[in-house]
Amino acid sequence: MADLTLDRVSKFFDDDGSRVVAVDEASVNIDDGEFLVLVGPSGCGKSTTLRMIAGLETVSEGEIRLGDDRMDNRPPRDRDIAMVFQSYALYPHMTVRGNMRFGLEESTDMADETIDDVVEETAEMLGIADLLGRKPGELSGGQQQRVALGRAIVRDPEVFLMDEPLSNLDAKLRSQMRTELQRLQEELGVTTVYVTHDQTEAMTMGDRIAILNDGELQQVATPLEAYHRPANRFVAGFIGEPSMNFFEMDVRGDTLVNDTFSYRLSAETQEAVAESDRVTLGVRPEDVELVSDADGDHTYQTAVDVVEPMGNENAVYLEFGADHTTFVATVGGMRRVEGGQSVAARIPEDAIHLFDAQSGDALQ
Ligand code: ATP
Repeated sequence: MADLTLDRVSKFFDDDGSRVVAVDEASVNIDDGEFLVLVGPSGCGKSTTLRMIAGLETVSEGEIRLGDDRMDNRPPRDRDIAMVFQSYALYPHMTVRGNMRFGLEESTDMADETIDDVVEETAEMLGIADLLGRKPGELSGGQQQRVALGRAIVRDPEVFLMDEPLSNLDAKLRSQMRTELQRLQEELGVTTVYVTHDQTEAMTMGDRIAILNDGELQQVATPLEAYHRPANRFVAGFIGEPSMNFFEMDVRGDTLVNDTFSYRLSAETQEAVAESDRVTLGVRPEDVELVSDADGDHTYQTAVDVVEPMGNENAVYLEFGADHTTFVATVGGMRRVEGGQSVAARIPEDAIHLFDAQSGDALQ
């Protein structure tokens, strides 16, 4: 069993006498064979978390366990973990075969022929069997990435750690490698922690995603849960593209109000805000509907500011009210909407998200 547990793990750095909290009591249990994506903005503590699991960084407080065994006090080579870096970290003077053999020669007492078999089998699996005699300088970025993966796979570790492994590849190759990596991970069934700052990558790759901000884990959930039921305003704004629209509102009985508009709540939704004076109303751009007139419930007359094409969809920036409050709606690319046009926009109640204005915690 190789379920991996982080139990209130913290990391403090000393920065010229002042304490930097890089990771703050992070707790998560990653199931045996699970693909967990650790995602968050730059500087939120992703790499530090991964490095603590690998043993490249000490743990300041808390424990890391593999199964029931505590591992944070073991040296890296005794952790049965293989790490894949953004930079690939291949040895330039060694061939692909040499690079892939190297980890195995160091860590096992396998016979030479067995090592050869494992390397060849893995190279076959990754489609790099015909490159075994080449050196890294003679490979494309994508091929180097495969070699780096191969080097991790041959070791047959309990856990893979991957730190932005696809970020040096161009967009097309990146999306191809995402699918391939996922397939490989599923096939191998190795518990994997994958770090990225790219929420699209997180949403498409992870069995579950762990969203980190300022050293604190915000939510650990399946991509769909994080999208539909974000735990707080940070997660709601981080997941989804374009980002969720937010409006600060006062609660007046069954109605949310601000200087621009009011939003009447059904009895059921009202319960969620019963204890609050002020809330943040959130709606995803893809949930805003452009409709024929502003007569219906939760529908507002707006003016189109800018239309931004996004492939098969358009992001339509709308403004309304005396203070020109702006928000964004996404609509199908075939629909004709132009700057300056007046349109009615509906914010359906079943699509709204409500957060406590102070703490940012979800209220529903
Ligand atoms: P990025 O996506 O930019 O790589 P990250 O989420 O991986 O960022 P970390 O590299 O883990 O973030 O850094 C987390 C915080 O810890 C940052 O504020 C960083 O400045 C700080 N930090 C990291 N390493 C050290 C160090 N050796 N000494 C002091 N502070 C550090």
